[in-house]
Amino acid sequence: MTDLYAVFGNPIHHSKSPHIHRHFAEQTGQDMHYNRQLVAEDAFRDTAAQFFADGGKGLNITVPFKLEAFALADRLTERAQRAGAVNTLARQADGLLLGDNTDGIGMVHDMHNLGWELRGKRILVLGAGGAVRGILQPLLEEQPASVTIANRTREKAQQLVMSFQDLGTLQACSFPELAGQTFDVVINGTSASLNGELPPLPAGVLAENAHCYDMMYAAEPTVFLQWAEQQGAGKTADGLGMLVGQAAEAFYIWRQIRPEVVPVITAIRRQMNEKSAK
Ligand code: NDP
Repeated sequence: MTDLYAVFGNPIHHSKSPHIHRHFAEQTGQDMHYNRQLVAEDAFRDTAAQFFADGGKGLNITVPFKLEAFALADRLTERAQRAGAVNTLARQADGLLLGDNTDGIGMVHDMHNLGWELRGKRILVLGAGGAVRGILQPLLEEQPASVTIANRTREKAQQLVMSFQDLGTLQACSFPELAGQTFDVVINGTSASLNGELPPLPAGVLAENAHCYDMMYAAEPTVFLQWAEQQGAGKTADGLGMLVGQAAEAFYIWRQIRPEVVPVITAIRRQMNEKSAK
């Protein structure tokens, strides 16, 4: 029988997850079906419970339901526990729901695929929202020299430092406090790019050959990546590889098979570029 999976979110029409999982299923010969489902803001728990009662095997969860998915899970991986948010639910053999957060490992795997070294690097993370909470454990497991979290609302960065400081060298900053510091890797985890805005970064924060990553992805380079190029960054990348990477990790949890991500990133990138050229 065909196994059922879905992504729940609101809005959901923009989601690329069904395309990505269709590619993975074809590539690995899995008999599965993956839908996207718009869920009313107050209906996540009931809709998810019904999906699993009807035999559904697994869910991806996107905005705004990651906290509710965390609450719904019967078991949590350590990284989901730390993140306080779940983007993947899997029904296990005993019927209980495992919750995981694969966003951060998706980003770290993407950086590995791009040939970026994280060990021993001074990393600057911009933002202190849900996405940043999801990446901190996998990032710190790479053993960077340090991770600095800069956020408009400094207290939120400080809270993250308190939650993750046992895993590595972490510090919190406001944006003005970054003046005079330099970093090897800068990751934009703010939602500023969604509005075409740039976080208020002082000039000179990029070390020589610094690598800059924007978690947001788009057909055109984001404002942050344009800024990075102007500042002389050695390499830049957007978050499409993170999106495909988190999906690959979810696929592995559900099917115990690791799909190839690079051909899928290439195919989705091509589709995005074709759409934007129309
Ligand atoms: P949240 O709403 O939880 O957090 C938003 C963060 O952005 C806050 O730290 C906020 O600061 C900061 N911010 C917003 N606007 C500005 C601005 N103009 N200047 C400086 N800081 C700003 O969002 P998420 O964490 O869920 O998402 C962040 C980004 O990550 C989005 O672009 C999203 O698309 C992307 N993402 C990508 C994924 C992928 O797979 N590629 C997966 C998940 C997220 P403050 O606290 O001061 O308000």
